[in-house]
Amino acid sequence: MGQSNTVRVAVLPGDGIGTEVTEATLAVLEKLTKRHGIGIATEVLPAGAFHYRETGDGFPESSFRAAEAADAILLGAMGWPGIRQADGTEIAPQLDLRFRLNLYAGVRPVRAIPGVPVALADPRAKEIDLVLIRESTEGLFHSRGKGLVTEDLAEETLRITRATTEKLSRFAFRLAQRRGAQRGRQPRVTLVDKANVFRAFAFMRGVFDAVAKEFPGVESAHHYVDAMALDLVRKPWEFDVLPTENMFGDILSDLGAGLVGGMGFSPSADIGDEHAVFQPAHGTAPDIAGKGIANPTATLLSASMMLDWLAMRGAGQGFADAAGELGSAVDAAFAAGLRTHDIGGRDDTADVAKSVMARIGVP
Ligand code: ATP
Ligand code: MG
Repeated sequence: MGQSNTVRVAVLPGDGIGTEVTEATLAVLEKLTKRHGIGIATEVLPAGAFHYRETGDGFPESSFRAAEAADAILLGAMGWPGIRQADGTEIAPQLDLRFRLNLYAGVRPVRAIPGVPVALADPRAKEIDLVLIRESTEGLFHSRGKGLVTEDLAEETLRITRATTEKLSRFAFRLAQRRGAQRGRQPRVTLVDKANVFRAFAFMRGVFDAVAKEFPGVESAHHYVDAMALDLVRKPWEFDVLPTENMFGDILSDLGAGLVGGMGFSPSADIGDEHAVFQPAHGTAPDIAGKGIANPTATLLSASMMLDWLAMRGAGQGFADAAGELGSAVDAAFAAGLRTHDIGGRDDTADVAKSVMARIGVP
């Protein structure tokens, strides 16, 4: 990827509101590409529950290959009640991508957007700006779909490996360094574990501590997951970067979303060494699908993370500028009074796109 190259983005809109929030985001991205003179070639690919119902294949190999060959993947949401595969499991191409492309770092920012109501009354809640990093390939999901189940017992396996923990920890410390530089504050990485009870987590802590020594400029700490659940409600503004095991991250990221306005405001990125998928943390929301009222903010913020990641991978400064401007435009739109349905307002999906676009290119 050189300065002048066009970046290829595979787009998987999926089902339900996935298609709606993706459409809004593509419109905003198009405006950004013009403004910053950057090239983004998008390729929309079929996948998801409705594609399964039509064709018997929820994630065609051709879609996977095209996504794998692209520079980045933007995903809406997938799955639908009542549409299941022959073995009873849900259609979940996003999980296939995570495992097949080894996307070990699930990045879930939790940030209070100015103007969006937060769950806590304390004025410091407006300063919430942390990022959970959910390990996404092992942990308690290791035996997913293949745990032992008999008539009288069921067993799942928790797996922590040195290699993945090292990569996850380095990812967390590097991210903390960047955030510290951008925000002008002391970066801090806090591992969330249960090292007092499980040897697997004591092992994880040992590996994390060894990596911490490579980053003397970043403070490092540990927190038990139960204490973290308490403190994320008591004083979430005190935390910065929080790497954790798969299941803990799954749970805490929903808690985090609840702190800052809900799923409609929660972006995510699943990042590996070579590939990355950017998608809102929410699902297909069948209850509101087709009405045009879904909040596309989570997807817009995921797209901003995508532009930033592409910039880090060498796509050029224009991508970093576009990422920054998209984030600022979203903030400015809500600060100016934009209110989506999920927070009790009347602004539709298209209104958000329009309002954000109106703030792109405005000095
Ligand atoms: P999944 O199983 O894919 O995680 P889920 O069953 O947890 O999905 P979601 O689809 O994430 O459910 O959404 C739960 C509810 O939150 C929805 O029914 C919807 O009312 C609301 N919701 C989620 N995302 C949005 C959004 N972007 N805008 C508005 N409301 C949303
Ligand atoms: Mg869910």
